[in-house]
Amino acid sequence: MPEKILISACLLGEPVRYNGSGLSLESTLLSEWKTAGILVPLCPEVASGFQTPRPPAEIKAGQQGIDVLEGNGSIYENSGHDVTEQFRLGADLAVKTAIEAGCRFALLTDGSPSCGSTFIYSGHHDGQTRSGMGVVTAALRHHGVEVFAQHQIKDLAEQLRC
Ligand code: SF4
Repeated sequence: MPEKILISACLLGEPVRYNGSGLSLESTLLSEWKTAGILVPLCPEVASGFQTPRPPAEIKAGQQGIDVLEGNGSIYENSGHDVTEQFRLGADLAVKTAIEAGCRFALLTDGSPSCGSTFIYSGHHDGQTRSGMGVVTAALRHHGVEVFAQHQIKDLAEQLRC
C-alpha cells in the first residue's frame, strides 16, 4: 500500500491562506503524488472554523508551537485577539486526519503558526522570522508523523523510497 502524505491544502493552490490566496509549488514529484492519489489535503485553520480571508496570526514572541500545544503559549491576531484555542483545535484535527488516513509523513507550508516546520514569524507582526515550528507541526511530530517543509520535498521523496 503506497504511503499517504498529509499536505497543507494551500500547497495545492487552494485559496485558504489568511489573505485568501493559495500557493503554487511547481514540482514533478507533487504532480506524480497527486496522480497517484496519495495526497491528503487539509487546512487546519479552515477545519477549525476560521474564515478566509482572516487576520494574520502569530505565535507569541519567545514561544513555540509546542508551548501552545502544552498550554503554555498563545497565538494572537494582529489586532491582539487571542486565537490560541482555535489553533489548538486545528492541530487536533490535523492529528486526527493523519491517523485516520494512515499518514506517517506530512508536507506542510513553512512559516505558518500552524504548519511552519523550520521557521515561524516573530510574534510582533513585523515581518521578521525566527527558527521554530507551528502548533500543527508540533502536534504531528508528537504523534510520530515526520513533517517536511515544501522546500524539503526531495528529502520527503527520499524517505518514501526507504
Ligand atoms: Fe491552512 Fe496550513 Fe496553508 Fe495556513 S499554511 S493556509 S493553516 S494549510
